[in-house]
Amino acid sequence: LKSKLPAVGTTIFTRMSQLAQQHGALNLSQGFPDFPAEPRLLDALNRQVLAGRNQYAPMPGVPELRQQISRLIERVYGVQVCADSEVTITSGATEALFVAIQALVRTGDEVIVFDPAYDSYQPAVELAGGKTVHIQLCAPDYRVDWAAVERRISDRTRLIIVNSPHNPTGMVFTDLDWQALADLVQRHGLFCISDEVYEHMVFDDRKPQSARQYPALAERSFIVSSFGKTFHVTGWKLGYCTAPKLLSAEFRKIHQYVTFSSFTPAQYAIAELLDTAPQLVTGLAAFYQQKRDLFQQLLSGSALRLLPCQGTYFQLVDFSAVSTLDDVRFCDWLTTEVGVAAIPLSVFSRQEQDSRIIRFCFAKQQHTLEQAAARLQALS
Ligand code: PMP
Ligand code: GLN
Repeated sequence: LKSKLPAVGTTIFTRMSQLAQQHGALNLSQGFPDFPAEPRLLDALNRQVLAGRNQYAPMPGVPELRQQISRLIERVYGVQVCADSEVTITSGATEALFVAIQALVRTGDEVIVFDPAYDSYQPAVELAGGKTVHIQLCAPDYRVDWAAVERRISDRTRLIIVNSPHNPTGMVFTDLDWQALADLVQRHGLFCISDEVYEHMVFDDRKPQSARQYPALAERSFIVSSFGKTFHVTGWKLGYCTAPKLLSAEFRKIHQYVTFSSFTPAQYAIAELLDTAPQLVTGLAAFYQQKRDLFQQLLSGSALRLLPCQGTYFQLVDFSAVSTLDDVRFCDWLTTEVGVAAIPLSVFSRQEQDSRIIRFCFAKQQHTLEQAAARLQALS
């Protein structure tokens, strides 16, 4: 078989989590919480299963959940989104991204992505017959140079994929970033996929910001989020996409033949929690800021240099004072010899880079962070 994705192997998340498990290392690599989800959510899921909500959900998702998403968006962003025609529930943000890309990208189209980029964008673009155009964001602040982006736009450019708050760097767009993006999309007739899975995890008095708050952008955007992140249940693989009615209709044509619909009982359970405990979502920023601050404080004075973290549950560190290994080998060594697993940054970029930066996930219990930091403090 001639591979359609010849350059693709096992993802770094699978590889590092497996290595961590083999060596009994603390796993701060793949992004997932090591603490249990809200008991009321687990109870709600149980009840929904036992109540018999176990058959196919409607193709776009159960109406109760779409209604709750619409209410959440209004509460957080002050924007109206139609639950019937503009919200589609998907099997994780991964499915939403894949479907939105298939809906937009045609053979020969160019898609702008910012490196370091989340790993699922490029394969999805290539399967649609498109080509990614990579623009590198650079340490320490990983900001976008919008004038440079404009210079990379050609008559084949179809789509820009953005991700704020940004995995893996923790960078968060400012109002000026959103305005510049809206301006480019509008003037060049592009589309946008805005990956906002970490939307509720922004720190230091930042407010969640979304592509949907900029009308010129919203009308040409698919906006993607994930309940796996928001409710600490990455294994439930439940997310959603909002887009204007006509774009959502195209999205649903594809979604209905990729999965048709997503896990029914979890949709009802999350709808129930959004209704009865919305503070779980609005309190997420404070919850993770406390973890970021703890982790940063535990690492202060160590040989690892902390980079800024404005959002997400990821902390970048520069290890050049510790080792001359490249970041991939350093992560292997750190996992097998020090007992802490991390993700090397260079794997998120197309350009070969001489990176000495790695990513830790701090969505962990206090004692996990303390144990990891104790091991990292011993590095010199
Ligand atoms: N986009 C980004 C930036 C992510 O970090 C993740 C999760 N790692 C996803 C999309 C996928 O989310 P889900 O697990 O809901 O498919
Ligand atoms: N999004 C998670 C991360 O960045 C990993 C998801 C996956 O394993 N595919 O760590």
